[in-house]
Amino acid sequence: MRTFKLSLLATAALGFAFVSTVPALAQAPAAAEAPKATPWTDTRLDADTRVELLLKEMTQDEKLKLVFGHFASAGDWLNARGDIAGLNWKPPVESHHQSAGFVFGVPRLGIPNQWQTDAGVGVASQVGDKPRLRTALPSGMATAATWDRDLAFKGGAMIGREARLSGFNVQLAGGVNLMREPRNGRNFEYGGEDPLLAGVIVGEQIRGIQSNKIISTVKHYAYNAQETNRFTASSNISDKAGRESDLLAFQFAIETGNPASVMCAYNRVNNVYACESDYLLNEVLKKDWGYKGYVMSDWGATHSTIPAANAGLDQQSGYPFDKGNYFAGPLKEAVENGFVKQERLDDMARRILWGLVSTGAFDTPVPVAEDQIDFKAHAAVTQADAEGGIVLLKNTGLLPLATTAKKIVVIGGYADKGVISGGGSSQVYGQGGNPVKDLGLGPKAFPGPLTYYPDPPVEALKARTRADVVYHDGKDVKAAVKAAKGADVVIVFGTQWTGESIDAELKLDENADALIDAVAKANKKTVVVLQTGGPVFMPWLSKVGAVVEAWYPGTKGGTAIARVLTGEVSPSGRLPVTFAASLDQLPRPKLDGDPKSDTIRTQVNYDIEGAAIGYKWFDKKGLKPLFAFGHGLTYSTFGYSDLKTSTAGDRLSVSFTVTNTGKVAASDVPQVYVSAPASAGWEAPKRLGGWDKVALKPGESKTVTVAVDPRLLASFDSASKTWNVAAGAYDVSLARSATDAVSKTSVTLNAQKYDVRGK
Ligand code: BGC
Repeated sequence: MRTFKLSLLATAALGFAFVSTVPALAQAPAAAEAPKATPWTDTRLDADTRVELLLKEMTQDEKLKLVFGHFASAGDWLNARGDIAGLNWKPPVESHHQSAGFVFGVPRLGIPNQWQTDAGVGVASQVGDKPRLRTALPSGMATAATWDRDLAFKGGAMIGREARLSGFNVQLAGGVNLMREPRNGRNFEYGGEDPLLAGVIVGEQIRGIQSNKIISTVKHYAYNAQETNRFTASSNISDKAGRESDLLAFQFAIETGNPASVMCAYNRVNNVYACESDYLLNEVLKKDWGYKGYVMSDWGATHSTIPAANAGLDQQSGYPFDKGNYFAGPLKEAVENGFVKQERLDDMARRILWGLVSTGAFDTPVPVAEDQIDFKAHAAVTQADAEGGIVLLKNTGLLPLATTAKKIVVIGGYADKGVISGGGSSQVYGQGGNPVKDLGLGPKAFPGPLTYYPDPPVEALKARTRADVVYHDGKDVKAAVKAAKGADVVIVFGTQWTGESIDAELKLDENADALIDAVAKANKKTVVVLQTGGPVFMPWLSKVGAVVEAWYPGTKGGTAIARVLTGEVSPSGRLPVTFAASLDQLPRPKLDGDPKSDTIRTQVNYDIEGAAIGYKWFDKKGLKPLFAFGHGLTYSTFGYSDLKTSTAGDRLSVSFTVTNTGKVAASDVPQVYVSAPASAGWEAPKRLGGWDKVALKPGESKTVTVAVDPRLLASFDSASKTWNVAAGAYDVSLARSATDAVSKTSVTLNAQKYDVRGK
């Protein structure tokens, strides 16, 4: 639960009295004055110069305003989210109804207010009476499954535009926590298990969002890999393992997307709160990576004034989710008394200003202009993303659906109503409302309500086939079996709803597993369509003819699913995560912590797998997954040839030719994996070195060149903070998935050293 408990302890411990629930600095600003033409508004100057000019003009109180954020939804809703009875929080009147956050600007100097909205799949609304109805992209996991940089960018650009036209200049998107824990209830928000794939895809989405001259975050920094005990758990991991995995994902995302903000996480890391970790914030992010933007806390993740400010936190978010207004009056006092240096406060303000100026948010106001949102055009963007991310896991020839089929029976998953989405703060409410609203599904309060988008796969299928399409809700298994018997093909829909704050079991909701099993026994021509947050087990797998993984497919998900089923588009998604066959294959067969406890200080040992996440763990342990990372079938066939390596200077490039050898136009995702000589001491036998997504007509060929980032060929040395490539022979394989290499070659590399940024 997103809980809020009013406590005096934390503030008292720092010697600050908690005087009022409404922070002293959160007064309404004077009526907006038109910004004058001032030196810092000269857009010909670079961002750094403009920021320094601005900073010089600012009073202490104005700087303090920038570093303190408010929750932007009213108390009644907060009450629904947790134990805050009696607080009766009233967000500043300038904030936008039912949104995540608000930070006062300085009208006198033209510094805009910061209006903050969640999240990665679109403009979310905190639950309430009148949510904004917006376009939802497929889940982050689904976009990662596209392996398509261009789609990721376009999706980000689309939701960023909706954010801007909804009056927001900060989008709390960019979730890049690696899937260490398949049961994590927020995996759907993230980019999968591989640092390169997740970092690049999420980075492209961030770049797309910021192309609207608004700020995007990257989050949740770092190691926020399970929801159980998320406020108290400590993620314990060594520096080296982290630099080669989760931190590398953030590094790639930041390099690709250049987000103006980083959101630090709820959890502790090696027993220090992520938002007061000098190691994560000052050392890794700001010093090692040279990050120039600002660090904002997650909502309720700030626990102190002096330790947090000195560790590198630049902005406290979402008060009163935290127990104290740490970065308001208490920070002012801490600076006055010398516990936090004036330069530190200046740096906090500088970083926030840099975010606003460098993205263009400073110069481009965000008036609410909802009538300018082109929902039709945006529907096409989300549909393309969904179609690109749907993964065909198994096919014995049932798909694409035969045009000769006379009767298609669709069963379960509320496929007559729409497509499912993931719950929590990232929840986007779709146009047309929630078609399962009155069915009593899922939790009523946060992270609910369980929400569908009204694009029913059944309707979309009917529009694309001459067959008679009949729907059965599947509640009564026997009746469903009866309905399935005479059909030319049966399509069973299985869903797994997951949401923020709770971890999930790796299974389908309601009676779906038993239903699929029974139906498949009655009719061999059974296709299963899954909509899940991440991996699930498939106890019925051997009995069904085809399996399609559609993730949470977004506002146009029903249309996308129907187009893939009928063959209007060939499936081209590939798994961004490994699907385990059983829990005992995981590094932690039992999830750490206790979901019933708010106080347990769970220790989660991520050094068990270290940097060997997902397929790397399976490789290292010699385990056979249910479905491998990178796996995905198409309606065509692809041939690979001419695998070659070249080293220009010390940089490795891999080239090859892909040919569509089948009969239909389709896209393929050739993957390059690299393996070091044993002397290099890698965490696992191989790493993804690169990939491309290639659209080809039948008979068409394309030569692809993939440049391998040197950090993916190196080991990180914590003492010298360098990436080291060991001398020797490296295997390079061209593969269809992590377990299906088609062609191999080898290249000899010299010993090389790169700095902490991989330069
Ligand atoms: C989530 C963040 C989100 C924030 C604001 C938190 O509970 O962890 O991802 O941005 O709330 O709603």
